[in-house]
Amino acid sequence: MSLPTVVHLSLSYHYMQLPREVIVGKGTLERIPEVVTRLELRGKALVLSDEQCYGLVGKRVSGLLEKAGLIPDFLLVKSMTVDDLILVEKALKEKKPRVVFGVGGGTIIDAAKLSSASQNIPFISIPTTVSHDGIASPLASIKGSEKPYSVLAQAPLSIIADTEVISQAPWRFVISGCGDVISKFTAVRDWRLAHLEKGEYYGGYAASLALMSAKLVTENADLIANKQDEGLRVLLEALISCGVAMSIAGSSRPCSGSEHLFGHALDLVNHHHAMHGEQCGVGSILTSFLHGSNWQKIKATLQKLGAPTTAHELGVKDMDVVKALQVAAQIRPERYTILHKLNLGFDACETVARATGIID
Ligand SMILES: [Zn+2]
Repeated sequence: MSLPTVVHLSLSYHYMQLPREVIVGKGTLERIPEVVTRLELRGKALVLSDEQCYGLVGKRVSGLLEKAGLIPDFLLVKSMTVDDLILVEKALKEKKPRVVFGVGGGTIIDAAKLSSASQNIPFISIPTTVSHDGIASPLASIKGSEKPYSVLAQAPLSIIADTEVISQAPWRFVISGCGDVISKFTAVRDWRLAHLEKGEYYGGYAASLALMSAKLVTENADLIANKQDEGLRVLLEALISCGVAMSIAGSSRPCSGSEHLFGHALDLVNHHHAMHGEQCGVGSILTSFLHGSNWQKIKATLQKLGAPTTAHELGVKDMDVVKALQVAAQIRPERYTILHKLNLGFDACETVARATGIID
């Protein structure tokens, strides 16, 4: 009899948590029972959703879970503030599910991700919109917390994305998702810059994955703009790959750089802001200009998709854009980007916004 091999792990290991099953396509909700069987899920399950998504999709998910032999219960949430999270965690402690299904948009998926992580149970992501890469990432954001950006929680055990469901959501969500993916061009540039100038860890594989997603969405912009199922699948796969890139990197670095800091800053400057991916897309035009790279191509792709490329189209004042660009670096002083390097004053920010045609 041979003895089992003992593997001694180095203390400085790199931890990656990846989704085990990803199903993307038309009518994939019907595959839920087989996923449950393959993952050997048993006992109580909780479907976390909002009122609208529960009526449209969540109820159906519950029925399919029952069919798969699980005991489903549901919980409806409206928003994702610190108080909401406390309530969801309390409900999880009482209901004691063995798995959480997040059925909804970004807010719901984030609620499922954070609450399940804190209770040490897996969660499955069933997105009803494609507005940002949080549908597959291990990170989540909480409204009203001292950190306006996302924090590490856990990766979904599985992602079941049904394009038939997602195509029912307003087109603007798709545009926002595209903006979030295209913004990886500058996110990766910032990551490289931090590596070269500050010696920060840089993962070539995670960076390539994020970049490839941005390239694929750019190359397929016409297909996506045509509102075809195939285009939606390209976007979904790109968003999921971005989530996986963050899982591999162990942080949001490959997917969130100066353009995301601009987006978060705009949230603070103007509360009636646009969608996350729309703001990051515009941010990417600005910071691509600062990096001296091809900002015109980013702008042209966003225009092709019908995404906002000006302050007016974002629904904010010209000066809000300038202010946001100026204060963006302060959102995360520790996350070195081109904005930290250049430390631009108000006038320089205004010049950049004019040069890229974001403001008149
Ligand atoms: Zn994002």
